[in-house]
Amino acid sequence: MSDPSYIIVGAGVFGVSTALHLIRKYPHSHITLIDRDGPDAPTVVRADYTDITYMRLALEARDVWKSDPLWRPFYHETGIFWVARSAFAGRVVQNYRELGVRGELYACTVEEARGEHGGLFVDGDYQDITEVLVNKTSGLADAKDALKRVIEEALMLGVTFVGAEVEGLEFEDGERGACTGVRTKAGDTITAERTILCTGAFTPRLLMDSAPERPDLHAGDRIVATGITEAVAPLTKEQFQKYRDMPVTSTDNPPGRGVDNGCLPYNKEGMLKFWGQTIFRNTHQHHSTKTPLSMPPPDPDYAQWNVPKRLQDDVGVGNGTIFGRNAEALKMEQFRICWEAVTPSNDFIISPHSACENLYVATCGSFHGFKFFPVLGKYVVEMLDGLLDPALQQKWAWDRTLPPIDDNDHWPKKELRDLF
Ligand SMILES: Cc1cc2nc3c(=O)[nH]c(=O)nc-3n(C[C@H](O)[C@H](O)[C@H](O)COP(=O)(O)OP(=O)(O)OC[C@H]3O[C@@H](n4cnc5c(N)ncnc54)[C@H](O)[C@@H]3O)c2cc1C
Repeated sequence: MSDPSYIIVGAGVFGVSTALHLIRKYPHSHITLIDRDGPDAPTVVRADYTDITYMRLALEARDVWKSDPLWRPFYHETGIFWVARSAFAGRVVQNYRELGVRGELYACTVEEARGEHGGLFVDGDYQDITEVLVNKTSGLADAKDALKRVIEEALMLGVTFVGAEVEGLEFEDGERGACTGVRTKAGDTITAERTILCTGAFTPRLLMDSAPERPDLHAGDRIVATGITEAVAPLTKEQFQKYRDMPVTSTDNPPGRGVDNGCLPYNKEGMLKFWGQTIFRNTHQHHSTKTPLSMPPPDPDYAQWNVPKRLQDDVGVGNGTIFGRNAEALKMEQFRICWEAVTPSNDFIISPHSACENLYVATCGSFHGFKFFPVLGKYVVEMLDGLLDPALQQKWAWDRTLPPIDDNDHWPKKELRDLF
């Protein structure tokens, strides 16, 4: 029997983790990892979930971030300071207890929170807040460096990297022809027994482009490409001394004002990184099927630096919410729009594609996927081998019951064009 072959499209956390776990388990397999871009900036690593499945998974990932020599250099245990509008803090503390996991975390009152971290957040916006979660055992990871290093490791173990844009999937003949590989924009065809799409927000468009005449292959209501704005505030020497030991902060917004605001210390670059509260889609008619589809702009670089003033101001709101009067001294720049694949339940998709043999989907981080980077591939390989736990199989299935989106704060209801 010949060695198995795989194509992984997309070298984000889902694709790279899959490549690493696959080559470690099957050293003689042929694995081609394809991407047109390079990796990105720092991201929060926390296990503070009300959903106990993700908490368990995040704790598993955090242990790897903290202790494995491959991942440890990129993890910084800054702690987290989470201003929540619900009973989130108490629930998280209870989940830790239920799982029997020790962590230096507690729910505190607003008055207590104002005194945390040397009073850095004394002047923040605590309107309608009753509890704040302080977890000293959460942190952040340098996404760009971690991705680069893990790609290097996978290549060293035998994975092949191809820098190319995949234009479409290739299929056997016939109405329900199986997937045989991919076709790149440069005109090359790459074949493998199994093709795994780890293509994030680009997934719905890639599926539709690949087979406009096969609606059962399209993402439909399962995935929406969603945008959010980020910015950084470079710090002076004095400011750096003040903010360098700050925790990751996240502040839930009142209903109607978007999802949340957040800020993290990007010490390596001497900056703070902020994210905005408004999320949005970018719906256009697909050129071939003529159906509406949200997708990142097709421009080079996805027009990520073309950020309307309203979205720039939107990130600025976060600064004021978190730091109050302290915010005035922080000047934001490098505004950009990032894209993510979101599902109605915010659960990932790690599943065979039910309408096409030899095609698999492993993506849809729904704004919380990065922290699982060290372990995602383990679960993707279990899925490929038919060994995934039945509860996870169901949770992450391509075909699953979709909940109503009304309660999902991360489901975009605004259109990018209306924000210019
Ligand atoms: C602003 C922002 C902040 C976030 N903060 C956090 C956080 O604090 N903590 C956390 O855990 N998670 C966070 N997330 C979520 C996390 O970053 C994502 O869930 C995760 O990165 C998604 O990984 P992915 O591999 O599915 O997709 P991506 O990282 O988007 O990777 C997809 C890759 O596929 C490639 N690709 C797509 N189509 C093609 C094609 N046709 N040809 C070739 N290559 C292609 C792209 O170039 C890209 O590299 C955040 C997300 C955003 C946007």
